[in-house]
Amino acid sequence: MKRRRFVQLGAATPFLGSLSLRETSMNPAKNKAIRLDLHTCMPLRETDEAFLPQLDRHKASGFDAVCINVGFDALTWEKSVALLANYRNFILKNADKYALINKYEDFANAKKQGKLGVFFDLEGGKALNEQLGMVEIYQRLGVRWMLLVYNNTNSLGGGCMDEVDPGLTAFGKQVIAKMAEVGIILCCTHCGYKTAAEALDLNPNPSIFSHSNPRAVHDHPRNIPDDLMKRCADKGGVVGINGIGIFLGENVANPQIIVKHIDYAVQKIGIEHVGLGLDYVFDKQELDDFLAQRPDIFPPDKFPKGINMVTPEMLPEISNLLSKKGYKSSDLDLVFGENWLRVMKKVWK
Ligand SMILES: [Zn+2]
Repeated sequence: MKRRRFVQLGAATPFLGSLSLRETSMNPAKNKAIRLDLHTCMPLRETDEAFLPQLDRHKASGFDAVCINVGFDALTWEKSVALLANYRNFILKNADKYALINKYEDFANAKKQGKLGVFFDLEGGKALNEQLGMVEIYQRLGVRWMLLVYNNTNSLGGGCMDEVDPGLTAFGKQVIAKMAEVGIILCCTHCGYKTAAEALDLNPNPSIFSHSNPRAVHDHPRNIPDDLMKRCADKGGVVGINGIGIFLGENVANPQIIVKHIDYAVQKIGIEHVGLGLDYVFDKQELDDFLAQRPDIFPPDKFPKGINMVTPEMLPEISNLLSKKGYKSSDLDLVFGENWLRVMKKVWK
């Protein structure tokens, strides 16, 4: 499927920039579009709820829904299930403010009720415990997208930090088929080039890069080349731009630089194929501890301590800057959430 529409630079309605964001596209009462951050990181501690009320920051910044990470390849499957229990428990007991998103229609319902929609993602196939049946278990627990490999080779395929990416394994191919069967979106972020290319080709559904920035804008092995972005878009997929300073530039994170990445991706693959997966980490100390403990996954020369991040609160300014560049309100709707929702409508069950 090829659906590419490119933003015409300088095509902004002249007076749009002078209206306050509250009066225009960021005002939920005036805009039915869903604003969705496809990837955020709460502390990976199943007994700790201290940070979870900070989900309100997404709502206050204009997001209607957010997807919380429940683990990556350095954690055990038991840990991911325990994290799911903790996050789900918090959401369910605070049902006045939050709504678990299970199906596509839940987004609009949560927004109508003024609640932040929450669902989950998993970064890496190690949490499957080598069992194909675990794919369906995670779907039942609320995991709605999953990436195959986190930085280094696992039993599904190769990672972006591998010197040699062996490509998809037989198990990796089975997992992709199972994900399509149960309705989990396939994500190729953190995968190696060969594994990602093979997965994009094999998946019968549109695939995503939930949080991968263009390597042409900043050269880092976690960023992806144009041809993978195009391959993803060609099948109706979406590339999510993240707000991590070392993937945006030389550890710089602000609205201007993320807009540079968003606009590059839009010009390359079209407005219908770009989204946001900010990857904001709420507990920065936990992030620094992980980086220090696991140099095998995060080589210090490529993953320095003290990473700067785009915050959820920067969304209005990102919106403002894109408007000034010529993005119409309908373009912003697509990039800030509706592109993700198109893939969900197609893949989720
Ligand atoms: Zn990640």
